[in-house]
Formats: sequence, C-alpha cells, structure tokens
Amino acid sequence: MTTKEIIVKGMVQGIGFRPFVAELAEKFQISGWVRNVNGSVVIHATAEDAFLAVFLHALKFNAPLGANVVSIETRDITEDEIVEVPDDGKLFHIMESAKIDYSDYPLIPSDLATCQTCEAELRNPENRRYHHPFISCTACGPRYSIIEALPYDRERITMKKFPMCSRCREEYEMKANRRRHAQTVACWDCGPQVSFMRWDLQQKQWITDESHDYDCIEAARNWILQGKILAVKDIGGFHLACSAGCKEAVAALRILKGREKKPFAVMFRDINHVREYCEVNTREESLLLDDARPIVLLKRKEMNDAEAAIHPDVYGNSPDIGAFLPCNPIQIMLLENCGPLIMTSANHSGELLYLEEEQVRRMFEASEMDHLAILTHDRPILTPLDDSIVRVISIGQKPNQVYYEQTIRRARGYVPNPITVPFSEHFLAVGGDLKATFCYTGNNRAYLSQYLGDLSDEACFAEYQKQMEHMKALFKFIPSTVIHDAHPGYRSVQHLKMMEGLLKRRGNKMVQIQHHMAHAASVLAEHDVKGDAICFAFDGTGYGTDGTIWGSEVFLWSADERQMTRINHLPPVQLIGGDEGARNAQTILYGYLANVGRLQDCDMESQIKEFLGEQYARYEVVQKAIAAGIHTVTSTSMGRLFDAASSLLGICDYNSYEGEAPIELENCAAHTKEAVQLSAKPEYWLSDLMKLRIDGTATEALARGFIHAVADWIIDTCETQPVKQVVLSGGTFQNRILLERTITGLTGRGYQVYINEKIPSGDGGICVGQAYLAAMFKKQ
Ligand SMILES: [Zn+2]
Ligand SMILES: [Zn+2]
Repeated sequence: MTTKEIIVKGMVQGIGFRPFVAELAEKFQISGWVRNVNGSVVIHATAEDAFLAVFLHALKFNAPLGANVVSIETRDITEDEIVEVPDDGKLFHIMESAKIDYSDYPLIPSDLATCQTCEAELRNPENRRYHHPFISCTACGPRYSIIEALPYDRERITMKKFPMCSRCREEYEMKANRRRHAQTVACWDCGPQVSFMRWDLQQKQWITDESHDYDCIEAARNWILQGKILAVKDIGGFHLACSAGCKEAVAALRILKGREKKPFAVMFRDINHVREYCEVNTREESLLLDDARPIVLLKRKEMNDAEAAIHPDVYGNSPDIGAFLPCNPIQIMLLENCGPLIMTSANHSGELLYLEEEQVRRMFEASEMDHLAILTHDRPILTPLDDSIVRVISIGQKPNQVYYEQTIRRARGYVPNPITVPFSEHFLAVGGDLKATFCYTGNNRAYLSQYLGDLSDEACFAEYQKQMEHMKALFKFIPSTVIHDAHPGYRSVQHLKMMEGLLKRRGNKMVQIQHHMAHAASVLAEHDVKGDAICFAFDGTGYGTDGTIWGSEVFLWSADERQMTRINHLPPVQLIGGDEGARNAQTILYGYLANVGRLQDCDMESQIKEFLGEQYARYEVVQKAIAAGIHTVTSTSMGRLFDAASSLLGICDYNSYEGEAPIELENCAAHTKEAVQLSAKPEYWLSDLMKLRIDGTATEALARGFIHAVADWIIDTCETQPVKQVVLSGGTFQNRILLERTITGLTGRGYQVYINEKIPSGDGGICVGQAYLAAMFKKQ
C-alpha cells in the first residue's frame, strides 16, 4: 500500500469536483480524503499502486462537466504526514475546505450557462424542477456574480438567504448525484422567488401580479408578445427585453435608453433559430454555445423587411447582428415559442448596469412611458457583469480558412477566468478611463476585470474601485507595483496620485506606461510573442509621451533590448479639442482640411471652397480658431482621421455613440467590393477623397478605398523593416474590412500576424499590456 498526496489544479472548485473524487475513490477501494485548498483540490489516497494509477488517470480524463484540470502533481507521503480522518467507518472522506494560505491564487469559476441536463429537466413536466427559474447543478448556474468570499460554498454566496429544503439537501449530500455539493441547488420548495409587476402610468403605481412562480414568467412572456417592454433580472444585472420585430417597441426602447442609433443585441431561443437570420460558421457556433454564452457578431441574412421578425431599426446600417442564446432558466422560458427578442442592458446609455429593482423602477417612473413591466426575483446580484461580445474574423477561402477570435467586450462568462501571460510579477494595472478595466497579475496569470464603463461617470468610477477591492479580497492579491496610464487627466491616474503617499508607505512602486505601447504589449502578452515585432496601435485617443494626442502609432518592439521605439505615425494635425471636438466628426473634418494645405505644402483653399460650398463659412470659423490656437490639440489619431473621412463622404457627421462615424464608414464600405486607389501617403488621403467626391465617384467605393489605403499603409510600413512579426491592436482594428485586408496582405508576404483575441483590442485590454511592459522594463 502507498499513500500519495495528489494536488489537482485548474478549474476544480464549484463544479462538484470533490464528490466526483470521492465516488471515484470508493470505486477503486481507495481510502483517504479530499479537500479544497486555495483554488486547488488536495487528495490523500492510500491504495495498491495499480489502483492509484487508474485513479490518477480517471481524475484527469473523467472530470465532471465544467471542470478544467490543468495539472496533477503527486508525491509519496510519509506516515507522519498522514492526516487523521473521522472514524465513522467510511473509506473516503470529503473534508471541509482548508483554511486558505494563498501561496497560489484560487481559480474562481465564471458564471456558467444552464447545462443541457438541467435544461431538459426544466422542460420535463415529470421532473420536480419543471419550469423552475433557478434550476442549476454542479456544472451550471451563476458563480462569480454571486460569490461574496472564498471558499466557494453556500454560506459565502448570495444563495445563503435561501436554506435548502430537505429534498434539495438530500441531493446535495447524496453520492452519485449530479447536484452533490452544488452550491446553487434550489427547487420550488426552497430558493428564490420570481415576481412580476407592471407600472400603471395613469395611477402612478406599481401593480404586482398576484400569481406565483411560472405564471409570472408566462405573464412576462405575454407582455413581450403584446409589443411591450419588460425589464428582467438576469445573471449580471437587469436587461430590457422586447420583441425584435415590433417597430413601436424598438422605438420606445431607444427613447427609454436614450440610445438613438446603436444596434441592439438579439437573443434567439436556439442555434437553429439563429441560423434563420444569420450566417453561422463552426467557430461562431461553438462560441454561441460556449458556457459563457457571449453575444456573437454574425453576418445577417437579407430579409424581407415587411415580414421580418427583426425590424431593421434593431441593427440600422450594420451588416451584422449581435446574436446570443439564453444563459439562464428565466431566459430559456421567456424565449419559449417566442423571440427573437432584443435583450439589452436596463440602464441609460453610458450608465452602469442596474443590479437593483429600485433603479429600474425609478427609470420607468421617470420615463412617462406606458407598457413597462419588471420580471424580478429576490436573489441578490453582487457583481455587475455585462454580456460579453465576441466575433470571428475568417481569413482566406474554404477549406483553408484561418479563424481569429476577437473579444470586443469581456465580462459575463469570462471573468474572472485568468489569461496566461509570460511573466510572474504580482502587479495591479489600472487600465484606461474610457473602457475601464483593471487587472491583477501574478504566477503567470492575468486576472482581467469585467468591463466597467466610462470612469467619467460617478457610478462607474465607484463600481470600478469597489470591484478592484472585491477581486483583491477574493484572490488575496498583494501587488508590489501599481501601473497606470500616462494621461494626467485620467481619473484612474488622479485617484492613484492622491493615494501615492499611502501606496509608497505600503511599499508599492508606481509605474507609468504610455497608452499605445500598452495596446501593443497586450498582444505581445497574450501570444507570448518571442523576438522583435512591428506593432501598430490605432485608436481614437491616447496621451502621447510628448503631451499630444496619439492614435496611429507604429512601434518597433526589440525583445532583447526590451524597448518600444516609435518609428512612424500619421502626420500631426491641429484639431479643435474637448469632448465636442472628439464627437463632432464634421468639426474634425474641418480641422483636417485646415491642415491639409500645410501638409501638402500647397494652397488647397479653392478646392476646399468648391467642395464645401455653403458649408465653407463654418469651416472658416474652425480654420481661424486653429490658426489662433484657441482650444486646439495636436493629434495623430487614426480614429479621428476615420471620423473626418466619414464626414467628408457624407456618411456621418456626429458620433452619437463612441466610434459611430468610423463604424458607419465601414458599414457603407461593406456594400461594395469596388475600391478606389488613394495615394500611398496619408497626408493626401482626404484631398484624394475630396477630388473623387467632386467627380461623383460612388461613396461606397470611396469608403472602401479609404480603408484599403490604411491597410496598404500598414503593409508598406512593415516592408521598411527587417522584422517579420506584426502586432495589430487598438479600437480601430475592430474594423473588419481593415483587419481582413491587413492580415491577408501581410500573411501573403510572409509575415506572422498577431491580434488581440481573448484580451479586448480596445481600451478594455490595455491593463494587461501595462502590466506586461512594467514586467519587461523591470527586468532590464
Ligand atoms: Zn446543470
Ligand atoms: Zn429545495
């Protein structure tokens, strides 16, 4: 007989791993015990060697659904080390979770979509959890959104206020039961309760439906089918739902949210339903069905508008639909014989997610609108988590396609799963302000927070600080260094500066990393890129090391020197500053035109006058302001150049939401395969477009020509360098046409191209790059 200590690492808590171990042990006549220690499972097993070998094999390969065994370490243990177990005649014991010493970080599960077995039970009238809105098991259910502290068990999640009934308790304790040690187990006799209430606009009061349980969900579904708007409490916050085919409901939803044009995400009841409206390739299908159930941006099929179940007002000019599938029992039941539904966060645009029914009530009461109702329940949500957004970029032709996944927003279903990174330092990187995220790093992992909105919003900033503390407390992170952006006006930076004395007394170092270098480095970190690379970081705005606005940065990353050198960028232009200067694409265009003569060293005024016609007077105002240097900024931003091009082509003059003008430019370009050829030099692009537009060239071909010019400029820039690895990062690379043309062009010329896949390519990903560079610079 041998006794071995076995340490199983990976995603092994909160998914019934210990009961699985116990059953396996009993099957092979192994004595001992299992317990959770930190985020790992530790087993002491005594048996014949042959049995231990089979046991180890089964641990790795027969692990329960939802588990992810990363490693299994074993060692023989001596008699002194054998731990006393209760003398109750049992061969194998499940021990209480050990007191945590945090020598390693625990792996805390993300929220998991309802599994197929639970969904089958939900639909089975014979099952005792038929239609139960909170059905879950060890393989599914909410996790990160409801965890207060570790170890992960009932007392430390928001389910603690719902004591298990005797039948649930029996399943929780019963061997071989798939709900054994399922912390979220509940049924009709115990567990949270749903309720349905509607706002009576005339009487100014809430009317709560007297019916219970499933009747509430039926009432809510009928509400939607009548073309009305429903707020529904889901995993990471409240959603607003309505029928995607109902023009009036869609319009009302836009007024309610204050969201004029941005496309809405659409929830479908199942994958076949998605296929009726969208093209779905194999990679997209697996993303739709992933445990995280993200929104997947899919190419929509052409529909007859008159009979479409998705009204064009849902997606506007976009060639895509953000499609997703139900991730919890309430959504599954709402979508039964129903849908597709718009499913969007229940808040005003730019606000933080609503977690409390009270917030939704206030929003509805203030709206002066009719036909509003709430489907809610009494299980608290602790951690706000937006729906994640991903998409697939396919390069090349079938069957030799190469897929790249792009994460646009990383939140529910993915957080707090760590991302493996090639450095082990214990850092906190606080990210940027506009798409706030932060990350803790250590032991070759980066724990990236969920997307937390724009820090200029008070509530977002408060939640950002709260989540930073929550994650720190859960994982017991002790960062040695805090890394931030270079922008002195960023709230994330100012906040740290205020605490600088305290941080230094605690022994924390502070390191500043430039915004676009961090973008580029987020890709180096994600793919552990070895050797030198040419890095392109294109976005709307970021603070440059010279105090101007950057955003079209080309860096040469020298791996040996650990150095990021700026080797190219767009020619700097003077633009009108401030928020309005960033949103108003027409003002941006006038700013560029005011610079274009200087850039080309010739007089362009007569051509500009011909092009602008009546608008020339307004241009002159901008021109004079820029000449006088009144409230101007110097910019090399690629995002702004896209804004200017979009306005010049008459596509979009104002960004009512972030990136609208560039997105509409892409949407326009998507209508054609034709592209005009612009000059190779960026300073000529706008004047080329102007001439061609005066000549009457089709807008679509001009839009595509502009995007192609940017891609070709990237390729040309690469060819000036002896390096064969290329990194593309920043929000501008969410442009599908640009990304596809650039990757196709570069790979065709023998370059290896890396982009952000798991880490968002926008500002939501810079925190990981900040940490990576701080670690690299430290090693110098
Ligand atoms: Zn399940
Ligand atoms: Zn129960």
